[in-house]
This record gives sequence, structure tokens and C-alpha cells, in this order.
Amino acid sequence: MTRETDSPSLTPRPAGSPDSLSDSLCAHARGLFAYPPSPIAMTRHLDAIFFDIDDTLFSTSVFADKARRAAVDAMVGAGLRTTRDECFKELCEVVNEFSSNYGSHFDKVIGRLPAAASAGLNKEILVAAGVVAYHETKWRELKVYDDVYEILRWLDERDDLVRGIISAGLGIKQAEKVIRLRIYEFLTPNAIYFTEQIGINKPNPKLFRRVLRDLGLEAERTMYVGDNPTHDIDPANEVGMITVHNRRSGRHTHDVGRTKPSYEIEDFYGLRELLVAEFGFGNATRPH
Ligand SMILES: [Mg+2]
Repeated sequence: MTRETDSPSLTPRPAGSPDSLSDSLCAHARGLFAYPPSPIAMTRHLDAIFFDIDDTLFSTSVFADKARRAAVDAMVGAGLRTTRDECFKELCEVVNEFSSNYGSHFDKVIGRLPAAASAGLNKEILVAAGVVAYHETKWRELKVYDDVYEILRWLDERDDLVRGIISAGLGIKQAEKVIRLRIYEFLTPNAIYFTEQIGINKPNPKLFRRVLRDLGLEAERTMYVGDNPTHDIDPANEVGMITVHNRRSGRHTHDVGRTKPSYEIEDFYGLRELLVAEFGFGNATRPH
């Protein structure tokens, strides 16, 4: 865990000064001790933590690569006359040109290859071979990183912490990931946001403002963990949230945003470390 900014600290005033005395009395009234500053008073408060999904909770890039290769193998296996490499290259181009959410990747791949590649074959069968192989890989491979699962379980012990998702993409696809990744039980049900559903996409900071407003959260007591400096960190910084750049993997590991994150982590053990060190979270994990 790398700390990028200083956490707020209390500036001690001389004991007995009018300010410190009145602060102390007020603190007593609230059941707190503001002065002298205790280790507890030095920690930052956290009411909510939100996560990006892709390349934050699981390796989208590795998963997509495996699923696409499986689809290509199946299409060639079903008779498509091309090499695996050529077919994979076409598929990657189609995804780049039409986006990963486009619904007819495999049809486009067949259409882009020379007509002889599919002559005499039923194109729907070729597409179905690709789709089935893609989905079988999805069932088999879509898992959160082990440390992510462990830390989400650990956070689940804190009833007072809102645990949510702010994820870009089609609602049904992102929702499917939450279910397939088996993390829904660790999330606060009304704190799950998909950009298509909301109608505001990353990197518009309005998305993050909307979440804070909906749930009555204060930005400076709300954390966002994401992998993309320009689409996760910059907009969350802009609304004043505590930002954590997860640098573990993915396409955006080396991207540079306009602003620095509050913290950087390499994995979710780093997240636990900072929550313990800076936010006073307990370190214990419950037995499995
Ligand atoms: Mg991401």
C-alpha cells in the first residue's frame, strides 16, 4: 500500500486553553475525547466503500482473452476454414471497432473472413459454437481474486459500513458479473450502481455525486476503489471522495490521470492494510 496524501491530523493546542477546554466539554457531551488527541481520534472515518468491478474485483482482461480464445477454437473446430490466429485477430478487431457490449461479434467475424472460409457451412452453427464456448468459459473462469473474496468477507463483519458497486457498462451484464462472482451477499443491496441504469457514464463526476446524494453519504467519508486513473480516480477525486487506485492488473495499470489517488494498492491485502492503519478497522478475520 502506498500512501499518496497525508491523512487529516488534529493540531494539538495547549492543555487548558479556552478552545481546548470547550472542545473537551463538547467532546464529553458527545461521548468523545477531542483533546488530548487519542489514537482513535487520529483515524479517519469511513461510512462507505464502493468498488469498480472490471479489473478491480477480477481480471477482466485475462478472462476476456481466455473466453475469446475458447470461442475461436470452437468455431474453427466446427469447420470454419481459417487459422486460430487469424480468427482471433478478427475477433479482437471486431471487439475494438464495435465495443465489447456489441451483440453479434461472431457473425461479424464470419462476415469479415473470405467467403470460402464458411462456404457450405451453416453460419448460425458456427456462431453458436463460439457463443457456447464463450459462455462455458464464463461459468468456469469468472471468479474474484482470492484476496478480494477474503477482504469482502472481512468487511462483511462491519454492519455499519455501506459496501457498494459503481460500475460502467450494461446493467444486465454487470449484474450478471456480481452474481457469477458470488459477491452479492457481501454488498449493501441499495448501493449497487451500473452506469447504463443510472444514465450517467464514467468519467462524468455527476455519477459519483448521484450515488452520494442517493444514499446521503459524505464524500470525504466515502471510498472508491478502481483501476482506471481517468475514469475511476479523477472523477471520484473531483467530488471529494477518498480514492484508491488498484494497480494490480488490466489495461489501465500504467495510465496516468489528471489527479493522484489518495492511496495506491497492488491487491486487496493492501486495502485491508490501509483500512486498518488509517481508518481504525480491526485486523481480525473470522474463521473460515
Ligand atoms: Mg475497471
